[in-house]
Amino acid sequence: MADVTPTPGIHHVTCIAGDPQENIDFWVETLGLRLVKRSINQDDSGTYHFFFADAEGNPGTSMTFFPWEGMTQGKVGSGQVSRTAFRVPEGSLDYWEDRFDDYGVDYDDRVERFGETVLPFRDPDGLPVELVGVAIPDDDPTEPWTEFVPEESAIRGFHSVTLWLADPQPTEELLETMGLERVGTEEAEGDTPGDERTRFAATGEVGKYVDVLPTIQGGRQGHGTVHHVAFQTPTDEDQEAMRKAVRLEGLNPTQQIDRHWFRSVYVREHGGVLFEFATSGPGYTSDEPLDELGERLVLPGKFENQREQIEAQLTDVTIPRAETADADD
Ligand code: ZN
Repeated sequence: MADVTPTPGIHHVTCIAGDPQENIDFWVETLGLRLVKRSINQDDSGTYHFFFADAEGNPGTSMTFFPWEGMTQGKVGSGQVSRTAFRVPEGSLDYWEDRFDDYGVDYDDRVERFGETVLPFRDPDGLPVELVGVAIPDDDPTEPWTEFVPEESAIRGFHSVTLWLADPQPTEELLETMGLERVGTEEAEGDTPGDERTRFAATGEVGKYVDVLPTIQGGRQGHGTVHHVAFQTPTDEDQEAMRKAVRLEGLNPTQQIDRHWFRSVYVREHGGVLFEFATSGPGYTSDEPLDELGERLVLPGKFENQREQIEAQLTDVTIPRAETADADD
């Protein structure tokens, strides 16, 4: 068994969207996250890559999207991250339901899960998302962004991802290899295909949980589905140890790839979900000052030389501003 530093938790989650403007409007204005990076898909430079996070773009807070307009609607199913959940301060779910009513967001009744209250909803592409009320400690590692949502209700990074798997056991063993611990199993409630939910916990405060639900319900990638989930391996050494450990599990991880704001290793796990291991640095403030994050299109490395061609391929987008929203009221 390789010597692995347990992952502190989720680093980011990357999803597939349709219309880029609709995607920005929802995640910035309706949900109140900060657009911390506006870039392109480094494997498909004609597509945007948006990063929505807390005020500082801390690890464990960034939800990222490829708005692939040409792709069709996806379907959540086995072999995917089926639900992505965010932490919000305990007691703020009334605020969120009112806000969802105001903005016409499609949400479900709250459910109780492992002693916490969960508010399930969908983004404009039908992506299943959840808010979970938790006690936020004074020294929380996240920094709320308060342009559209007040601090007492603002999203504070990831709570968990739920994996839907045809055969959960090999994936559960992998999660344990990654340093997560089994919390327990309870009856699955709400919009779920299986009747049992098993929870695993990582060592950190943010993006701490991975839930596993057995299902054979088939899915397909497209708008409104998750592309991959990245877990934190803070240093290159942590990442290399994790890479070795998953190889010993019979998986086939990539070499390290430089993603400019972090360095990544990808691996398709036993159940078909694409996992990534991402370093904590250099981080989203490595190429833009903190107070200017997301203001301009950032083209990493070699792509800067092709700025004119790349910009010509991309649809223009406008970032919502609180002042503009007030003027419309
Ligand atoms: Zn990623």
